[in-house]
Amino acid sequence: AKEKGRDGYYFFTEELNIRAIKLLTLEQELRHALQFDEFTLLFQPQVHIKSGEINSVEALIRWHHPTRGRVSPDDFIAVAEETGLIVPIGEWVLKKACIEIKMLQQLTQFPLKVAVNLSARQFKDPKLETVIKEVLECSGLEPQFLELEVTESMLMDDIQSVIAQLNRIKATGVTITIDDFGSGYSSLSYLKRLPVDILKVDREFVRDIPDDLNDMEITSAVIAVAHKLNLKVIAEGVENIDQRDFLVINKCDYAQGYYFSKPLTFEDLYDYFCKIERI
Ligand code: C2E
Ligand code: CA
Ligand code: CA
Ligand code: CA
Repeated sequence: AKEKGRDGYYFFTEELNIRAIKLLTLEQELRHALQFDEFTLLFQPQVHIKSGEINSVEALIRWHHPTRGRVSPDDFIAVAEETGLIVPIGEWVLKKACIEIKMLQQLTQFPLKVAVNLSARQFKDPKLETVIKEVLECSGLEPQFLELEVTESMLMDDIQSVIAQLNRIKATGVTITIDDFGSGYSSLSYLKRLPVDILKVDREFVRDIPDDLNDMEITSAVIAVAHKLNLKVIAEGVENIDQRDFLVINKCDYAQGYYFSKPLTFEDLYDYFCKIERI
């Protein structure tokens, strides 16, 4: 029994060590990635649902690891958040997105907007307002073309400080979207007090339309309530025409998903754009 207990103890510390080493390695690799330009952005079109016309794009980060190849954000954003590296990575994303979309605007003469995901740490950072101003200034992108996506869960903090931070961000002239709406538990009275512009209905609710009646009820109710609060609504994860039609009938404003386009490289976005413009 003693042997076993000792083995158990060793096993336990070894597990902890492996986890710590993995975290440390990933942290070093992420630092390296920042320094040696291993990140890129993809842009996924967000269309005006009725006309299908492109309105904006969501910037989505990709990591091209020298040996492991393409690493999904789901596999490193959490660690970046945990280690604090998400702050410089998030700044990089913000800057890159603004520069590239400004360039695209100049190439196409189209007033394209860009939506950038903020992490919880970035949102809490008192310097965020300054960072946004600097990025807008250095890229030359006008503030009305930048949308920042914050998740519902990030807003579930002390409401006074959340409202104050949202107001500071909005004072720069950018737009705020609540991402993954419906996945958290914010009450509608809470939502009413938040200075935000757009609700993004979580993919979770769109996925099983038209088979799941509950999801259809929830989605149409969220759209109706959002409109009552003077917010625009975008649905994410739209993959087929039934979902698209349901959203049109229920007056959703915008949509994003594989049905319209997967996330595109800058070059592919430019081509997509030229094609659409010609129609
Ligand atoms: P998200 O913000 O909810 O982004 C939407 C995700 O859904 C993206 O995954 C996108 O590729 C995927 N998607 C788009 N259309 C469809 C569809 O029709 N069907 C399905 N099944 N999926 C679709 P991605 O690019 O792997 O990003 C995953 C998550 O990683 C994002 O979820 C976001 O939370 C995070 N993320 C990505 N880029 C950044 C970033 O620059 N900063 C931060 N903080 N987080 C990021
Ligand atoms: Ca998002
Ligand atoms: Ca989302
Ligand atoms: Ca989601």
